[in-house]
Amino acid sequence: MLIILLGPPGAGKGTEAEKITQKYNLAYISTGDILRKAVKEETQLGRKARDYMDQGQLVPDNLVVEIVRERLTEPDCANGAILDGFPRTVDQAIFLDQVLPEIGAEIDQVLLIEVEENELIERLTGRRVCSDCGVNYHVKYKPPQVRNVCDQCGGDLYQREDDSLKTVKERLEVYKKQTEPLVDFYKEKKLLKAIDGNQDIDEVFEQIDSILKQL
Ligand code: ADP
Ligand code: ADP
Ligand code: ZN
Repeated sequence: MLIILLGPPGAGKGTEAEKITQKYNLAYISTGDILRKAVKEETQLGRKARDYMDQGQLVPDNLVVEIVRERLTEPDCANGAILDGFPRTVDQAIFLDQVLPEIGAEIDQVLLIEVEENELIERLTGRRVCSDCGVNYHVKYKPPQVRNVCDQCGGDLYQREDDSLKTVKERLEVYKKQTEPLVDFYKEKKLLKAIDGNQDIDEVFEQIDSILKQL
């Protein structure tokens, strides 16, 4: 099973993906997480990606598609995977269509999580992330049990550099220009289902679960 989570930054893709992988036996692929790890470890990829990420711009397609190509061939993807934050451009989607037959996979469903813009800003500016395991929290909507400490691994929580108000606004513009065209791309392929992401975390998951159960 291959599921793509599509939606603007802050829609809840990472949060819902965590719930999906707990229930379904799927590998989790987040290009954002992979890129942040590369930046932190100062690898060659990280050094190339860093400035784009800090400015809220997309990292060039050629760098990102190589990450995904390699990641999809790892053993945990054999049962299927959930893609969060990829594809983000039509060219990335075309690449995915080319690479999937090589590994005998195909897209089962693209879930578009839709959320009002004001709510996106509120979610992103209040987001906190575990520096060890990458799990997401929110100061108001999903606070950790102990302030600034990850419930799952005890790691320190931090605020992402690109979750500042200025960069959030830039990322929302980038989404509209470069990623939103994927909505029509997948609609035409009859793969898209829209989810009302304005509800609370569990209610959004119920909508997703009712779709996944039928696959
Ligand atoms: P994305 O991966 O789409 O950028 P995240 O899953 O990181 O979004 O969610 C962004 C922020 O909003 C996080 O702080 C998360 O805890 C919070 N959040 C996610 N889903 C909801 C929801 N349905 N209601 C309220 N807050 C949410
Ligand atoms: P969000 O949680 O806001 O949806 P991500 O963690 O998915 O953000 O991505 C953070 C940053 O990493 C993006 O702003 C972009 O710079 C880079 N990035 C992640 N995925 C991609 C991708 N598929 N193509 C290009 N850049 C990407
Ligand atoms: Zn953690």
